[in-house]
Amino acid sequence: MLDASLLRPSRPFGTAPTDLDVDFETTAPPQLVTEVLHRCVHHDQAPADLWELAVGDRLALLLGVARWSGLAALDVVARCRECHELMEVSLSLDEILDAHERAGRSPHADVDTHGAALRLRRPSGLDQLAWQRAESHERADPIGLMVRTLAVTGDPGPGPLPETTVAAVDRALNSLDPLVDPDVSLVCPGCATVTVERLDLQARALDYLHRCQRALLHQVHFLARAYHWSEEEVLRIPAWRRSRYLALIERDAEGAMSWPT
Ligand SMILES: [Zn+2]
Repeated sequence: MLDASLLRPSRPFGTAPTDLDVDFETTAPPQLVTEVLHRCVHHDQAPADLWELAVGDRLALLLGVARWSGLAALDVVARCRECHELMEVSLSLDEILDAHERAGRSPHADVDTHGAALRLRRPSGLDQLAWQRAESHERADPIGLMVRTLAVTGDPGPGPLPETTVAAVDRALNSLDPLVDPDVSLVCPGCATVTVERLDLQARALDYLHRCQRALLHQVHFLARAYHWSEEEVLRIPAWRRSRYLALIERDAEGAMSWPT
């Protein structure tokens, strides 16, 4: 099994030809995460192993790739639930990833269900695959499906879980993987009311990486048009040289014709 602590991003996304093969429009998020990690995280093992990693570790690696690709911070914007004042906070990727590094790696969390003891393990990418492939009647109750998959001790029983158990499960899963769906508290500067916003880090990182891919496509477009190179020829040029050619095209478009000194 892969040891997540030994894995590190090995390059930014949106710089290599194979980055154009990722279909952000129609691929499900767990598969997108694996596709990005497969390209941008150094590992000596088969890609299938990336699915074995905990969801939180996969997300941390994805955020590491996004950071290397240029994403420095995430802005969270919300309206105060009392006076509707607009609030904004910026979370740096460095701080988010440092917090993940420092967090303990507990394999289990106990859920307080007022009676039956229920112990859940950390979800992995393989669990996400299993949830995708579950029967439609099971997917109709996503929390129940999740709990039945992750329970190592105790049985939540059939049927929908009571609301108090769902809330307890949410807290337990959050304690196992604080990076997945973290809550961000914003204090209103006008009335000091605290508003809590749930942040979908995975969606934000994938959205940023999709933009990196579009930027690479734009590079191909401008260079192919200017120099009549094929897509393949453009992508064979290293990223730093592509940037230099693009700067020259921009300079020409501004009418400046000068030689480097
Ligand atoms: Zn307020």
